[in-house]
Amino acid sequence: MIPPGSTIGILGGGQLGRMTGQAARSLGYGYIVYEPQPNCPASHVADQQISAPYDDQAALERFAKISDVITYEFENVPSEATRQLSATSLLHPRPEILHICQNREREKTFLRDNGFPCAPFRILDTLEDLQTALAEIGAPSVLKTAAFGYDGKGQIKIDNQNLDTEELWQRFGQQRAVLEGWMDFRMEISVMVAANAQGEMLTHPVAENIHTNHILDYSIVPARISAELQREAEELAKDIARKLGLVGLLGVELFVMTDGSLAVNELAPRPHNSAHYSLDACATSQFEQFVRAVCDLPLGSTALHSPITMVNILGDAWQDDRQPNFAALMRDPAVKLHLYGKKDPRPGRKMGHFTVFAPTAEESYQGAQNLKQLL
Ligand code: AMP
Repeated sequence: MIPPGSTIGILGGGQLGRMTGQAARSLGYGYIVYEPQPNCPASHVADQQISAPYDDQAALERFAKISDVITYEFENVPSEATRQLSATSLLHPRPEILHICQNREREKTFLRDNGFPCAPFRILDTLEDLQTALAEIGAPSVLKTAAFGYDGKGQIKIDNQNLDTEELWQRFGQQRAVLEGWMDFRMEISVMVAANAQGEMLTHPVAENIHTNHILDYSIVPARISAELQREAEELAKDIARKLGLVGLLGVELFVMTDGSLAVNELAPRPHNSAHYSLDACATSQFEQFVRAVCDLPLGSTALHSPITMVNILGDAWQDDRQPNFAALMRDPAVKLHLYGKKDPRPGRKMGHFTVFAPTAEESYQGAQNLKQLL
């Protein structure tokens, strides 16, 4: 066990690291962030930031020396850095999990080879591969970069099989890709699963996720699906975590298909945007659970105190340099506002979120939609 009073080192300095750091602090841990970008959101709540590239050997060594346990909050940390660090330091989740989850090709292959349900797919490298894959998978389908994709970045939907594949391949950047069959889903949901080194494993309540322009817009909890399907999703997430040998936290994004079956969309071995609701609505937030898991403390209760909806606040809400109407949110006793301390509100950038409590999930979603209009 890494006891309170020790120091947690986190690779990546965005809001996920920031909120993990806040949870770490509440439990009496020190917190050091490794992130190339100076003055990152996590640095404001950390004891120290090491601001260096992820391949800076001397900086990595310095980071390892100060940290009693190391983790990451960002999938695009080079897995090589985690491999090097784990040779001499305690690091969770193990580097192989990051290596799998940071690349769609490896992730999809892992899912398929282990019998977990997911979209049909083909891996491709050339225009000819694309044409063959398209003939096999058909349209609609989605062309996704094999590496470095999130929030719909590096994706093109293909609606019609008779399109100009040469033009598409050019526009896509002629890079290694995954062509995925289109999933006719009824709903998107996600489950957080946490595991410590003792083998304890717990999930947070299932969130129902609504995306706009490929970016998470609302998470409604509990998801408006049957208790049986919620259990099924939780068991599927646990099976995946066991197969990966997880110690830490894993977000499992799922499609609920029109026939009621589940299919895995993506895996994220870190806190997840769709579980931010847990800060306000659960006995133990995903961030505290993450700290407990990587420090091998007993996992905390994930009991939900109330139905809740989370809304992301994007940079788009700042128009003509005007601050969004935060006062309208703060006046409402059913609302909690969280801001990430980011200075530059670019469109599509996640600047903060708010949550809305209500007696039912439906009412919290209604309330959240109304309040979003006021921003
Ligand atoms: P991703 O970045 O792969 O999670 O994709 C972002 C969003 O695009 C997902 O949350 C879905 O809403 C949508 N999407 C991705 N892949 C598919 C697919 N194969 N079929 C239908 N929708 C998809």
